[in-house]
Amino acid sequence: MHEVIFWIIITILVLDFVFENYLEYLNTKRMGTKLPDELKGIYDDEKYTKQQAYQKENHRFGMITGTFSFLVILAMFVFYGFAFVDSIAWNIASHAILAALLFFGIIMFASDLITMPFSVYDTFVIEEKYGFNKTTPKTFVLDQLKGWVLGAIIGGGLLALIIFIYQKTQDMFWIYAWLVVAAFSIFMAMFYSNLIVPFFNKQTPLEEGQLRTAIQQFAEKVGFKLDNIFVINGSKRSTKANAYFTGLGAKKRIVLYDTLIEEMGTDEIVAVLAHEIGHYKKKHVMQGLVISLIQTGIVLFIFSLLIENSHLSKALGVEEPNFHIGLVAFGILYSPVSFVLGIFMNQLIRKNEYQADAFAAQHFKPEPLISALKKLSQKNLSNLTPHPLYVFFNYSHPPLFERLKHLKTFEK
Ligand SMILES: [Zn+2]
Repeated sequence: MHEVIFWIIITILVLDFVFENYLEYLNTKRMGTKLPDELKGIYDDEKYTKQQAYQKENHRFGMITGTFSFLVILAMFVFYGFAFVDSIAWNIASHAILAALLFFGIIMFASDLITMPFSVYDTFVIEEKYGFNKTTPKTFVLDQLKGWVLGAIIGGGLLALIIFIYQKTQDMFWIYAWLVVAAFSIFMAMFYSNLIVPFFNKQTPLEEGQLRTAIQQFAEKVGFKLDNIFVINGSKRSTKANAYFTGLGAKKRIVLYDTLIEEMGTDEIVAVLAHEIGHYKKKHVMQGLVISLIQTGIVLFIFSLLIENSHLSKALGVEEPNFHIGLVAFGILYSPVSFVLGIFMNQLIRKNEYQADAFAAQHFKPEPLISALKKLSQKNLSNLTPHPLYVFFNYSHPPLFERLKHLKTFEK
């Protein structure tokens, strides 16, 4: 039986790799196609050549990193790497919680170390070459260190708590674990901007001036408090621009990148803001949270049925089942399910983008949002002609062409 599970795991990994690469291939095949009229003039010829080169380079780089990660994970299963790390962990610690923390600590740390050359290359060679990179080596190193510390404290703490619950409650473990994860998720959704973001970025309230006045007028009209609008120093790492809505209830906030404010006119910024307020008005954060909590409950329930199963641990070369080995095997076996759920999720999120766009068009104006989206695409060297299948599986936002078409329907 454990041999069957082993081969199922390998098959899942291979199919996933082949499929991802197929989608990438479809996407590159669409490069250099003639642009529809709506998308002409976003790039001038020189900039478009640059965009195509950037896309090609990212594609090639993605193929290399993807293949590398695939081979490493495959090797971990074929050569029983997880069993090896498991034995190291149990040699150092005899307690299940400590062993699990060591197990995941070693794996995460090792995986970060071997993929670090790739992220160095990405940031300091590719992004640098196309004029995006603002990250200094110091920021890069500090980001890594902070990531490890926060990951160890938050991820380690949550894992320890869940295993502790498992030891105490066994059968009903998934319900208690679910309650803990739910409480944690709600807490994080509310306080992420206050607790985590400050480790990496500065967030400041909107400065006095023409922009603030313009925003104030619009925010008052639609009933959004100005105190909840912040500017973040995204320029610390990249020239790419962005904006997002986050948080729940009193802790909600809209965050505008300083790079966005620099590049856009007042009307365009208000339009972007209106789009983000649309996410708030349509309760998209709450909706995402509820869906993810339902999914978490289902995942924990299925996991609780399989965790004691020795076939799973034997498939990874470990005789006695334990929590962390069960989690690794389950993680791969469950991935086809999460792949399918992810498709629905992306579709829902893309629908939400249309809703937020509609809100901005109706309560502000469609034209400045159209020009803001065009500017964003041009500045970030976005792909204007992604393959529809690639979009279907991977995009969280509708492609620019579709969004512009939708926004045009609101023009008077
Ligand atoms: Zn949006």
